[in-house]
Amino acid sequence: MDFALTPIQEEIRTNVERIMRRFDDAYWLDHDATGEFPFEFTAAMAEGGWLGIAMPERYGGSGLGVSEAAVLMHTVAKSGGAMSAASAFHINIFGPNPIVVFGSEEQRQRWLPPLIRGETRTCFGVTEPTAGLDTSSIQVRAVRDGDRYLVSGQKIWTSTAQEADKVLLLARTTPREECARPFDGISLFFADLDRDHVQIREIHKMGRHAVDSNEVFFDDLPVPVGDRIGEEGKGFQYLLHGLNPERILVAAEAIGIGEEALSRAAAYARERMVFGRPIGQNQSIQHPLAESWAELQAAWLMTLRAAWLYDTEQPCGPEANAAKYLAAEAGKRACERAIITHGGLGYARELHVERLFREVLINWIAPVTPQLILSNIAERALGLPKSY
Ligand SMILES: Cc1cc2nc3c(=O)[nH]c(=O)nc-3n(C[C@H](O)[C@H](O)[C@H](O)COP(=O)(O)OP(=O)(O)OC[C@H]3O[C@@H](n4cnc5c(N)ncnc54)[C@H](O)[C@@H]3O)c2cc1C
Repeated sequence: MDFALTPIQEEIRTNVERIMRRFDDAYWLDHDATGEFPFEFTAAMAEGGWLGIAMPERYGGSGLGVSEAAVLMHTVAKSGGAMSAASAFHINIFGPNPIVVFGSEEQRQRWLPPLIRGETRTCFGVTEPTAGLDTSSIQVRAVRDGDRYLVSGQKIWTSTAQEADKVLLLARTTPREECARPFDGISLFFADLDRDHVQIREIHKMGRHAVDSNEVFFDDLPVPVGDRIGEEGKGFQYLLHGLNPERILVAAEAIGIGEEALSRAAAYARERMVFGRPIGQNQSIQHPLAESWAELQAAWLMTLRAAWLYDTEQPCGPEANAAKYLAAEAGKRACERAIITHGGLGYARELHVERLFREVLINWIAPVTPQLILSNIAERALGLPKSY
């Protein structure tokens, strides 16, 4: 058993830290205030070859695993860039996984190199306003019309759609009532986000203002049959393949944010003098911070274990879910504690911890909520009856 990072993982951390130093607190504070997308940052990540870290080498990627991708996303989020940085390119890391695994050779050659070079931007269209977490109830329809499909309906929360030219889109090709099982009849497309047939409306949200989330309305969007990934009706199974890596990366990001908040809190607690002594000398300040340190350490170990299971091709559903759950709870708690450690200043934009708190809540909610994670663990790890 070895708990050390590998030399490659250490190298990833060092090199990414070097890039992140170019994007300081002022950069993220400014982008949070203006809502401007961090284009300079994503260009730097593309230039460094990081967008293809987990993509096969023959298409221009680095062919590394989810463990290395987790180190990358942890380092990015921990820099102070939090989810404003991580979400700006998160979709690139494992989003195209269904193309790699289930796409044709022609599709891989057509789509992966420009994604890896950062020339194509994609977004991810799964969530819908009426379906919620019950993905089998999605209403967006793709109706076959000769050698193309026509897509209609609405997605919600689609992040980065404002900048994207493509969407990895889940749509019903057969009505649910005509399918043997609820998740049959759903297909996966990598479609052009053609603004003549797509309307995109930004959602005003609590945090991560630099990276948009949107309502997306499809009005007979034509999608060539050649842009469907794999077989018709099997899209949900294809998507499932990438869900565990996504949970692992979201966990790594939450831990990075929590650690950054914690280190800011500890630094402030060492310096801030009240009643003639540093506030960090009080155990009611120390203990919550120490507890957060322990929680974040434990969540990181769970995350690396889930990543190791995935990379060694072992089942990792409950472990990936547990990593996401523990990391989001630990990250959220560390940010909350960082705010109270700063007293009133914790609520001020300039001290950054309120921004970290607003952003770590995304990892708590998405891509799956704590309730549904616990329901899944109860079912899969403990053999309890399915409750959803
Ligand atoms: C900032 C942000 C960015 C996002 N980006 C994207 C994106 O790029 N692409 C995309 O497709 N989606 C995206 N999402 C959507 C996100 O994945 C969903 O919001 C999330 O999966 C929850 O789904 P919902 O909002 O429909 O909640 P609902 O399904 O409406 O659930 C509401 C509440 O009820 C609870 N609940 C529901 N059913 C049960 C049950 N059976 N047992 C217990 N509790 C239950 C849920 O846990 C939740 O607390 C994003 C969300 C946010 C906030």
